[in-house]
Amino acid sequence: MANQKMLGFVHTAQAMPDKRSAGERRQDFNEIYARFSTERADEQASRCSQCGVPFCQVHCPVSNNIPDWLKLTAEGRLEEAYEVSQATNNFPEICGRICPQDRLCEGNCVIEQSTHGAVTIGSVEKYINDTAWEQGWVKPRTPARENGQSVGIIGAGPAGLAAAEELRAKGYAVHVYDRHDRMGGLLVYGIPGFKLEKDVVGRRVKLLADAGVVFHPNFEVGRDASLADLRAKHVAILIATGVYKARDIKAPGCGLKNIVPALDYLTTSNKVGLGDSVAAYDDGSLNAKGKKVVVLGGGDTAMDCVRTAIRQGATSVKCLYRRDRKNMPGSQREVAHAEEEGVEFVWQVAPEGFTGEKRGGDDVVTGVRAVRIHLGVADATGRQTPQVIEDSEFTEPADLVIKALGFEPEDLPDAFGSPDLTVTRWGTLLVDHRTKMTSLDGVFGAGDIVRGASLVVWAIRDGRDAADSMHAYAQSVTAESLAVAAE
Ligand SMILES: Cc1cc2nc3c(=O)[nH]c(=O)nc-3n(C[C@H](O)[C@H](O)[C@H](O)COP(=O)(O)OP(=O)(O)OC[C@H]3O[C@@H](n4cnc5c(N)ncnc54)[C@H](O)[C@@H]3O)c2cc1C
Ligand code: SF4
Repeated sequence: MANQKMLGFVHTAQAMPDKRSAGERRQDFNEIYARFSTERADEQASRCSQCGVPFCQVHCPVSNNIPDWLKLTAEGRLEEAYEVSQATNNFPEICGRICPQDRLCEGNCVIEQSTHGAVTIGSVEKYINDTAWEQGWVKPRTPARENGQSVGIIGAGPAGLAAAEELRAKGYAVHVYDRHDRMGGLLVYGIPGFKLEKDVVGRRVKLLADAGVVFHPNFEVGRDASLADLRAKHVAILIATGVYKARDIKAPGCGLKNIVPALDYLTTSNKVGLGDSVAAYDDGSLNAKGKKVVVLGGGDTAMDCVRTAIRQGATSVKCLYRRDRKNMPGSQREVAHAEEEGVEFVWQVAPEGFTGEKRGGDDVVTGVRAVRIHLGVADATGRQTPQVIEDSEFTEPADLVIKALGFEPEDLPDAFGSPDLTVTRWGTLLVDHRTKMTSLDGVFGAGDIVRGASLVVWAIRDGRDAADSMHAYAQSVTAESLAVAAE
């Protein structure tokens, strides 16, 4: 239905793409939403009110020109919509799938504010760009000419990959170093397939390789080379290593077997989904099948763990979180999906320890001891402090406990053998916010290692900004050396 008029929200209700039934979703790791049909995408895009000041764009970290690509979609001009969409975002079909739109673009859509229900921006973005892939419009961005300089990027997550694409297009020889065997960072080994199918990431990585980006898998900076070694090889370096030190819980029984960190659990599940054989999955230690599973935490990682456990065939899955539903950091959409799939949330409880028993020579966990809490008076930031309710102790039975309590940066100056690399008191990289340069000349930072645990779309934004600064830096270095040579 091409050539839709805009402002369709007055007669057309908000509609998401069809969602698979919870019963079906529980059986596999495929994405839960189908794609919009062309008619439905046109119709939903036409609901946009084409605001003079588009708050959706203001609240999109990559400043996507959303009203324009919605209008082009509504008019059936899909290839142009794709051109506009990809101009600001290296991985638009990925953001369309996994951005928490309710907190970003859609949450600030004017027609959402006027209670008509936001334009389903993320789903249209996914539709435009998946169609572009199918139609062959997505092409490797090979440079018009090589500029003779090389850059090094440490970390192949969204920040590193976005920077790699931008720098390659400017003519640099781009080398990406990652300690994993596959490229993609948390896109491939953190986020489960039911939110982001892995071939969607794989085709992007291949596109970069086709553009000439050189990947160095299984290359850990700090083990296989120091930062100084890499710095000597490249005109500029980007550190985009993410945050991986799991926050832990110190409580009686915390050393029992089958109490595991969330990322070990999710990485294993993703590897198995990709066809790898993983001993810890086969021997049951990182596999929820037939188990009573308790997940500690209330963020996106916890949501991914509970929903993974359901799909692995856990007998029950409970999520214990110390605040209530409206104060949890995880996306409300994800909580709703998890509940539909059979996850039980136990709000306002705090773990105090773990019970265990001896089985086959091992001390294994049998339960989580917890207390109930209520939320006290709000502090200056508006957050209410949790307080323990007297005599509220209980034990939640568990065969597998997954700790999803957040992540912190590793000690980079130590790991990289670079004591001069300055970090903040939280251990994140200290960068000049304008240039993204660290305390080391020509070494830049982007993504979670600068911001702390954040979002894919912010990592992309940082990677793009860092690429611009690295280019400006490399040009200034070239100009300086030319001036010296001329003297
Ligand atoms: C389980 C989970 C679910 C999430 N879900 C969402 C979501 O739904 N939506 C969303 O927007 N965000 C989500 N996030 C957050 C998002 O994944 C991150 O914000 C984003 O991936 C950060 O990108 P990055 O490039 O900075 O780092 P990463 O994606 O972490 O990539 C860093 C890369 O650096 C490599 N590396 C680290 N150290 C070294 C070294 N010494 N040498 C070589 N390589 C190294 C790592 O192997 C990794 O590949 C989720 C995070 C997790 C953990
Ligand atoms: S990148 Fe994310 S925030 Fe921006 S328009 Fe797409 S889904 Fe919304």
